[in-house]
Amino acid sequence: MAGEPQSDCLFCKIVAGEIPATVVRKTERTLAFRDIAPKAPTHILVIPHVHYPNAAALAAAEPEIAGELLAEAGRVAEDEGLADYRLIFNTGAGAGQTIFHAHVHVLGGKPMTESMV
Ligand code: 5GP
Ligand code: ZN
Repeated sequence: MAGEPQSDCLFCKIVAGEIPATVVRKTERTLAFRDIAPKAPTHILVIPHVHYPNAAALAAAEPEIAGELLAEAGRVAEDEGLADYRLIFNTGAGAGQTIFHAHVHVLGGKPMTESMV
């Protein structure tokens, strides 16, 4: 069934508590934890408990949870005292996605004025 936990998914294991993570926020439907290899002074991942391969698939299937993911990303940034921050959704291996469970990167705490867009 769509959204069901996948036994080979690292983030499903983090949601289940089978792999430890430094959790900063938890709601009924989302989890935010520090990235294991931070690319900025603040680097937090926000994920839904349900498993979808990327954020667009999550939004297509469960738009309310996708909205909650974004709202939680904002709350994480606020908790970290970030006025300026970047949200990144890598989608597909060719775009740098390595974990195929929907997630948004919250990055901040250093100037990030260089842009790809
Ligand atoms: P992606 O490249 O798929 O957009 O992002 C996956 C992120 O997950 C990477 O930034 C990577 O550092 C992070 N990551 C990979 N394995 C673990 C882990 O076991 N724990 C945590 N907290 N982060 C992880
Ligand atoms: Zn998963």
